[in-house]
Amino acid sequence: MATLRFRALDLVNQRETTQVSIPEGKISDYFGSNVFNTKTMQSLLPSEVYKQVIQVIESGEKISTSLADSVASAMKTWAMSKGATHYTHWFQPLTGTTAEKHDSFFELDGELAIEKFRASALVQQEPDASSFPNGGIRNTFEARGYTAWDPSSPAFIIEINETKTLCIPTIFVSYTGEALDFKAPLLKALSAIDKAAVDVCDFFDKDVTKVIATLGAEQEYFLVDEALFNARPDLVMAGRSVFGHTPAKGQQLEDHYFGSIPPRVRAYMIDFETEALKLGIPLRTRHNEVAPGQFECAPQFGELNLSVDHNSLLMDIMSKVASKHKLKVLFHEKPFAGINGSGKHCNWSLGTNTGKNLLSPGRRPKDNLVFLTFFVNTIKAVYEHADLLRASIASASNDHRLGANEAPPAIISAFLGSQLSAVLDALEQNTDVIEKGDNMYLKLGIDKIPEILLDNTDRNRTSPFAFTGNKFEFRAVGSSANPAQALVVLNTIVANQLIQFKNSVNAEIEKGVKKEVAIINILKEYIKESKAIRFEGNGYSQEWVDEAEKRGLNNFKTTPQALKAYMSPKTVDLFVKMGIYNERELHARYDIYLEEYVKKVQIESRVMGDLALNHVIPTAIHYQNKLIANVKGLKEIGLGEEYYASTLGSIKEISNHISDILKNVDAMVEARKVANNIEDTYERAVAYCDDVRNYFEPIRYAVDKLELMVDDEDWPLLKYRELLFLK
Ligand code: ADP
Ligand code: MG
Repeated sequence: MATLRFRALDLVNQRETTQVSIPEGKISDYFGSNVFNTKTMQSLLPSEVYKQVIQVIESGEKISTSLADSVASAMKTWAMSKGATHYTHWFQPLTGTTAEKHDSFFELDGELAIEKFRASALVQQEPDASSFPNGGIRNTFEARGYTAWDPSSPAFIIEINETKTLCIPTIFVSYTGEALDFKAPLLKALSAIDKAAVDVCDFFDKDVTKVIATLGAEQEYFLVDEALFNARPDLVMAGRSVFGHTPAKGQQLEDHYFGSIPPRVRAYMIDFETEALKLGIPLRTRHNEVAPGQFECAPQFGELNLSVDHNSLLMDIMSKVASKHKLKVLFHEKPFAGINGSGKHCNWSLGTNTGKNLLSPGRRPKDNLVFLTFFVNTIKAVYEHADLLRASIASASNDHRLGANEAPPAIISAFLGSQLSAVLDALEQNTDVIEKGDNMYLKLGIDKIPEILLDNTDRNRTSPFAFTGNKFEFRAVGSSANPAQALVVLNTIVANQLIQFKNSVNAEIEKGVKKEVAIINILKEYIKESKAIRFEGNGYSQEWVDEAEKRGLNNFKTTPQALKAYMSPKTVDLFVKMGIYNERELHARYDIYLEEYVKKVQIESRVMGDLALNHVIPTAIHYQNKLIANVKGLKEIGLGEEYYASTLGSIKEISNHISDILKNVDAMVEARKVANNIEDTYERAVAYCDDVRNYFEPIRYAVDKLELMVDDEDWPLLKYRELLFLK
C-alpha cells in the first residue's frame, strides 16, 4: 500500500545535483540580455523615434500607429536575432498566474514565406479568454476580452522547451473597457498616486514633476523533491498538505539548518537567479530560511509596476526551472501545519524625479517636513482604510497564515519604531506652533529627526505594516498572491489621503496661515485621529487582540469576512472617486475572490475526503487486522490478558479514529452539498468557511493520530520529516 511512498523515497536517494551553466563574464555583462530595454531600443531605433517612444513611456500618453510600427519592427529584429520564433501578449488575469497565447512571427504572404510583426499585433490582441475569471462582466455584454500593450514595462524573451518567445506585457480588459486583470487597475492607482504626490510635493519643491511608487518584494517559498510532491495528492491538488504529523525535528532545528543549503537547492537557486538576471530582475538571493525546506529571495526594489511584473515572472521562472532540478516550488502560504508559513513582504515607498525618497528623513529640517508629511499621511490612510487593506490580502491560503502566531495577525496596524513614535507624540503634544524666523522648524518640533534616525534599528516582525527606516514593509501579503491586489489598495488609499491633505492645507493657506504652519497643524490633527492604528508591541499576543478590540480595530480572521470591505460604501466611494474601479468592476472582483475562496476550500475538502477514505482508512484497517491476528495468536498460545491488553487498546483506538473520520467525512460531504446549493456567492463562501471547513480539524486530528500508530512500512502518505528535509 505504501509502494508509491517508498518508490519516491528511493528516487530521492538516487538524485544527483543538476549541472548549471552560468553565462561567462560578470553579472552586469548578461543582466537584462533577454529584455527589450531602453538601451536596446536606442540602438535599434532612429534617435528621433527613440526620443518619442521614451516620451510616450514617461508621460503615459497613447502611442501613435506609426510610432508603434517602428517599435514593433525593432522588437521583431531584436527578438529574431535572439532566436525567438513566436510572440505573445503576457498578462496577469485574476487567476493569480500569468497567461500567454503564442503566435508565430512566420506567415505566408501569397507564396512568400516571411516573418512579420505589425503594430496592430504589438498594441492589441484578442486572446481566447473565455476561461479567465470575469465575475460576470464579459457574459453580460460581450464575450470578448482584449489585451493592450503596456509600454512602461519592457518586452522580454522567455525560453520554454527550446522555443524562445517574445513576451509583451499587457493589460487585459473587456470589450467594454472594464479591467479583467491585476495590471489595469494598478496602472490607474500608480497614476493617481503620482499626481497626488506631485501636488503635495509642490508645497516643498517645484522641481518635482513625477513621483513613482517603488516596490521591493521579498518572496518566500518551500522546496520539495518532485517525486515526493507527486506522491502527495494534497500537495498536487491543493498546494498544501492536509494531513501530516509534526516531525520530531521541526523548527527547533533552525539553528542547524541555517546556512547549510543542500547542493541540489544551491544549484537550483543559481539556475533560476541566472534566468531572472537575464530577464532584468535584479535578484539578490538571501538564504535565511526560517523553516526547514523554506527559502527566500528578494530583488532590489524598483518602479512598482515593473516590480510587480518581475514578481509574477520570477514565480513563473522559479516553477519552470524547478522541474529541471526535479524539484517543486511551493508558493502556498502554509504548505505544512505547525511550520512557519510564507509571505511576500512588499517594501513600498515613493521616489521623485529629483531622486528623493519621500519616506526617507533628510538632513535638514525642511526635508523632514516632507518626510513627515508623507509618513503621517500614509499612516492616516492605513487608519482610514484598514479594513480594505485587510481585504486586499485575503485568500483561503493566507487565512492559514494571518494570526497563526508566526505571521502578522489579521488585525491591521502600523509599526513606527520607538523613535518615530516619540517624534509623533512630541509633535502631537506641542501646543500651538509659533513661527519665529529661522527657528521655525525648531518650534515645529521637527528639527531633530535626522540624528535620531541614524540609529533606527527597530524591527518588529509581528507587525503587518512596519516602517523600516526609509520605506514601509507590508508584511501581511501572502507568498502566492499577485502583489498588485494589495498594492492597488495601498496606492489608492494613500493617493486619496494626499488629495485630502492638499485641499485641507490649501484651505488654511487661503485663510492666511503660513504654509509650514498649516502643514504642521493638519499633520497634528492626523496624528491624533489615527492613533488607534499605531501599535509597537507584540502583534502575536492575546493582549493585542484584546487591546485592538478596545480600540475598535477589526480582526477579520477569514476571507469571506474580510472581503466584505470591498463592497462597503466607503470603499465603493473611494475607488469610484479615484477612478480606479467602477462599481461593476469592483463587484466583479469581489465575486471572483469569493468564488476563488469557495473553489480552494472545496478542493481541499475533496482531497481530504479522498485521502482519508481511500488511503488512510484502508491502511488503518490493514494494520488493525495485523494487530487482531497478533492478539488471537497470543491467546492461542495461552497467554493471559495482561500480554495483549495494550494491543487490544490500540485496536479499539484505531476503530475510534476510523469511526471519527467516517463520521466527519460524511458530515463534511453533506455540508458541501448544502453549500453548493446556495445561490448567493457570499453566503456560499460563508458556508464553506463556517461549515465545510469545520470538519478539517477533527478529520486531520484522527488521521495524524493514526499516522503515529500505524506501522511505518504501511503508511501511504509521505511523512513531514521526509517531505521537509531535502538532501
Ligand atoms: P529586510 O531587512 O526586511 O530583510 P532589506 O533591507 O534587505 O530587507 O530590504 C528588503 C527589500 O526592500 C529589498 O527588496 C529592497 O530593495 C527593498 N527596498 C529598499 N528600499 C526601498 C524603497 N525605497 N522602496 C521600496 N523598496 C525598498
Ligand atoms: Mg523584510
